[in-house]
Amino acid sequence: MATFVFMFFRDVPGQSELKSLFRALHASGKVPHALLLSEPAGSGALSLALAFARLLNCSAPKDGEGCGRCTSCLQYSGMAHPDLILSFPIVKPASESDFHSEHLLPEFRKAVLNDPFLSLQDWRGLMDPGNKQAIIPVREASRLMRSCGLKNFGGAFRVVLIWQAQKMNAESGNKLLKLIEEPPEGTLFILIAPSASDLLSTIVSRCQLVHVPPLSQDDIAQRLMSEHTPDRDKAQMAASLAEGDLRQAVRLLELDDTLLQYTEWFVQLTRICYAARLPDLLNWTTELGKSTRDELIAFFRFSAHFLEESTRSRSGLKVYESPALARTGFKMNVFSQLMPLAGVEQIAEGFGRSVENVQRNVHAKLILFNLGIDMMRAFKAKE
Ligand SMILES: [Zn+2]
Repeated sequence: MATFVFMFFRDVPGQSELKSLFRALHASGKVPHALLLSEPAGSGALSLALAFARLLNCSAPKDGEGCGRCTSCLQYSGMAHPDLILSFPIVKPASESDFHSEHLLPEFRKAVLNDPFLSLQDWRGLMDPGNKQAIIPVREASRLMRSCGLKNFGGAFRVVLIWQAQKMNAESGNKLLKLIEEPPEGTLFILIAPSASDLLSTIVSRCQLVHVPPLSQDDIAQRLMSEHTPDRDKAQMAASLAEGDLRQAVRLLELDDTLLQYTEWFVQLTRICYAARLPDLLNWTTELGKSTRDELIAFFRFSAHFLEESTRSRSGLKVYESPALARTGFKMNVFSQLMPLAGVEQIAEGFGRSVENVQRNVHAKLILFNLGIDMMRAFKAKE
């Protein structure tokens, strides 16, 4: 995978409104004491926060960016500015006295520099391949209070960045309330969480809220083409499935062969069901039943997305047809003529239910067989 370097605003795809907002805050000199960035998908909140912190501390900013050359910028490039305090969830280490994020700081820096779109799941996996929960414990809150009690190390702003702030337990959250409400002069708190509703309301009310929307398909496709693949079709396919999450799009690209596979499975299913060939459905069920739960969930989501595209084609909108689809000889417009709209809705629900059933540990073959029956019915649905 290509290395991301998203430490300037210009390196973050899209999000032009938010970049303007941060630049305006800097230019006005009216920086709030606490920001909460809510980010439902991997849409660049951490990169934006770091670019903003860099800009605030740069000694010679230019065109709304840190210069990249002053001492402060150089320290920011390694996420090693002494006035940048990073806080993030950790899994409980062997020794209770190490239960705060500082002792994992080198690993965290490395992970973010390698991929600023790092997800909580990725980070947890790096710390502990098992299933332990990662949290921001009360010991961490104490550490932040101690750090904020010191004078700034010469930076204009001390930035306390709490990544995945929803992982603060109530005890650590409550402990930080007063500090977040009235941080020392020259201190800015930036909290990042999937949604404000994941945090204590008392914390949320002390922060200025900034919603970081999912990236647009175009922004993602362009980024994929500049960093990961020259293949426009592949980039668009991955972007259209990633629901605004760049990290997810990159992962999908890596799974390119898998996308071909899903397309083939879907086309097989529609052909079997249109012809109502039960023995073939049983074979298909047996074959797909060998897949892992994650693969099945991804396949069901892929199919639901595919059906959505087919309704767009029905209403005359231009639809992206992947090379994989072309290879199968499947024609979206023919499918739209054969499958009534009511049927598309029924089967789309069927795929949604199948995801839930996999999550509930229902037997895979049973889920797949029911899906086939649903699709057979869907072809016969009344308009
Ligand atoms: Zn600078």
